[in-house]
Amino acid sequence: MTPSRLRLARHRRGMTLTTLARVSGVPLRTLSAYENAHHMPPWPTVVTLAAALDVRPEFLAGDEVDLLDPDVVSFRKLSRTTAGRRDAALAAGRIAVEIADWMQARFRLPAPDLPTLEKHEPETAAEIVRQRWDLGERPVPNVVHLLEAHGVRVFSLAEDCREVDAFSLIRDDRPFAFLNTDRSAERQRFDAAHELGHLLVHAGTPRVHGRDREAEANRFAAAFLMPRRAVLAQGLREATLDRVLAAKRHWTVSAMAMTHRLHELRLLSDWNYRTTCVALARDGYRSTEPGGVRPEVSQVAAKVLASLRERGEVGQLAEHLGLGLDELSRHLFRLVPTAVAGGVDDPTPPRGRLQLVRP
Ligand SMILES: [Zn+2]
Repeated sequence: MTPSRLRLARHRRGMTLTTLARVSGVPLRTLSAYENAHHMPPWPTVVTLAAALDVRPEFLAGDEVDLLDPDVVSFRKLSRTTAGRRDAALAAGRIAVEIADWMQARFRLPAPDLPTLEKHEPETAAEIVRQRWDLGERPVPNVVHLLEAHGVRVFSLAEDCREVDAFSLIRDDRPFAFLNTDRSAERQRFDAAHELGHLLVHAGTPRVHGRDREAEANRFAAAFLMPRRAVLAQGLREATLDRVLAAKRHWTVSAMAMTHRLHELRLLSDWNYRTTCVALARDGYRSTEPGGVRPEVSQVAAKVLASLRERGEVGQLAEHLGLGLDELSRHLFRLVPTAVAGGVDDPTPPRGRLQLVRP
């Protein structure tokens, strides 16, 4: 058994050593000795531990694994997050990295090509990347597809880690974004753009955290999704609620994000901003998006899974990773049209300019 993998699996399940001792029936001191590589458990104990941790015994016996460094991850709500929750999310992220490694070894995926924009203000960074990516002043049709086309690996934040909220990281020069796919499509788009902001503007100095960074990533996301010049040209000065809602549909953002952007661009007075926020809250727009669009899904995961399904190899992926199909599904939850483990197949094959070729 590999001690680092025991720790990874334990973190993934959000268990302390004490909890694992209780659940598995293996004494605490023995467990601690296993995890610190002082003793090697006999195989039947590995099987018992695997069962308690809901992984295959092969998972615990795999190659040495390095856990993600919490310092280099852009956690949005770090202050409110307990260490255990944070470790669980990081462990889920680490498992997603293994899924990405596996996919990358078998499919030619888009190479990362994110520009470095660290020296720029968020608003300017958003304008530059819009220009480089040929977006003009138009709404971004699909943020997840755009990220994937530029080499960002997008995964779903496992549902038992949702408290942590979306986050991103760069590992071996590969950017990753983990999205909370429980949120409305509009909020998920904003989250994806927020993480893109971290990846572009904060990549060079990952160990700095704090509120300023979060505000910067939010400003980037707003400017990226609702470009200044185009919004100014929409004639939205002191816009009525109906016009705000029309604008938010045009840009596919939440009504709250639209209102905030209009205020930020001085198109809404403080008074009208507050009045609009109150009216939106009254109509249920504070945390949900009445009449919203369908959430974006991953093109890479959909194509990889479609190809695996065709060959009846989905089980191999789970097996190779030493995980159950349920665990695999959690990392792709709502990012692919169907669950990994069975379910109804989506009749429409994934399309688009992304080409997945088996090397
Ligand atoms: Zn953030």
